[in-house]
Amino acid sequence: MSIVWSSVTHLGRVRSVNQDRAHPTSGGRNDGPQLLVVADGMGGHVGGEIAASVAIEAALESEGTLEERVRQANRAIVEEVEEKPELTGMGTTMTMAEVGTDRRLRLAHVGDSRAYLLRSGVLVQLTIDHTLVAEYVAQGRLRADQASSHPQRSLLTRALGLETHLLVDTAEFQLKEGDRLLLCSDGLNSMLSDREITDLLDGDSTEEAAWRLVEAANLAGGHDNVTVVVADVR
Ligand code: MG
Repeated sequence: MSIVWSSVTHLGRVRSVNQDRAHPTSGGRNDGPQLLVVADGMGGHVGGEIAASVAIEAALESEGTLEERVRQANRAIVEEVEEKPELTGMGTTMTMAEVGTDRRLRLAHVGDSRAYLLRSGVLVQLTIDHTLVAEYVAQGRLRADQASSHPQRSLLTRALGLETHLLVDTAEFQLKEGDRLLLCSDGLNSMLSDREITDLLDGDSTEEAAWRLVEAANLAGGHDNVTVVVADVR
């Protein structure tokens, strides 16, 4: 078994700073296990960039389960803010995937970055957004088709860096040869529908698919930083 991935992050067409971060930062190939991460930072000035960078660094240095890595990333941001109070309010999403040598996929996730699985042309979202509108949809207070245009669609209910106690979603899936994984920041799925993402993600190399997604998000307006990690399981 091997995993082949490509990673692209882009400023978009509106923002002046890219506060998204990904790991790995470039493409590669590995026999596994392989970690893949997307973090979308928030917070004024340089806060968002710092939060996302600190979080990924701490998660990679940490040992243990993916959940423990995300918790360590959370603590690292909280400690950074304690040292530098001017960074108060900075935080980040984190969606982390690990593909094992047995093609076992483990996920740990906080925020509104997403993990998707494309299998035989069918796209499945593997994570649930931690946003106010996603909660409204789950409670039946809002229709799914109203969520994407809701004025508070970006309001997160969970993020790293804001509290010492953090609830982390975890999940496991068995992958198969031919599966394609996508991790992305909301700059992708806020600009493109799942139908469009499916069509753009399907086919060609991971690098071509990754760039096709980023270019389409920018063509659709590029309102936010956009980051994608596309990985094939072989
Ligand atoms: Mg974003």
